[in-house]
Amino acid sequence: MESSAVRGSSAKNKAMVEGLRRYGIVKSKRVGEVMETIDRGLFVQSGTEAYIDSPVQIGYNATISAPHMHATCLELLEQHLQPGMRVLDVGSGSGYLTACFAIMVGPQGRVVGLEHIPELASYSVENITKSSASSLLMEGSLSVHVSDGRLGWEEFAAYDAIHVGAAAPGIPEALIEQLKPGGRMVIPVGTLFQDLRVVDKMPDGSVRMRSETSVRYVPLTSKDSQLRV
Ligand code: SAH
Repeated sequence: MESSAVRGSSAKNKAMVEGLRRYGIVKSKRVGEVMETIDRGLFVQSGTEAYIDSPVQIGYNATISAPHMHATCLELLEQHLQPGMRVLDVGSGSGYLTACFAIMVGPQGRVVGLEHIPELASYSVENITKSSASSLLMEGSLSVHVSDGRLGWEEFAAYDAIHVGAAAPGIPEALIEQLKPGGRMVIPVGTLFQDLRVVDKMPDGSVRMRSETSVRYVPLTSKDSQLRV
């Protein structure tokens, strides 16, 4: 069994982030820094290639998204991930982005990860514990809950940022409701053909939406249909 110190390679992780900068996917200083701080190698199973730009299977018909998708979502949400802000990560899977969000909003912020497969929720907690976001998990500004993410998480609503890591046929109403005026949600929408939507709630409560790019995510669905595949 390899130790986490062997599994994670900060030099390889740094080179991965450098590549994303060269391609213009990582643009801001903060996103580059957080992706260097949270080692992707700690969020994939040992023996799996963590640092190539590709999604990786994490079991239960789920994947950790590709690094360029993580970077794209962090960049789109960057203004809404300021210290002290509240973030909801729906379909938190490996916990990679949940950890990045927690570092960006810091100990005064609040990050909630929602994952409907209990084994994946435990896996993400183990991964986060090995990462630089560990103290935030221990101190309680980051938490992961086993729950249907389509319902959101009322307890800490309204959220400055909502990230959805699985593709929904339509945008769940509860998530729009739980978005703060002035806040932003990034969500892949569609079934066979999907696009990444950026949903901005204006200060007056009205909603504006645009499509950022075509994507391919696992579905945001019920636990039964996910495990039946
Ligand atoms: N951002 C994550 C993405 C994981 S894949 C990462 O990079 O690791 C999407 C995740 O959404 C899977 O773990 C899947 O189990 C979860 N999921 C799918 N439908 C869900 C639902 N209704 N509620 C909560 N989680 C869901």
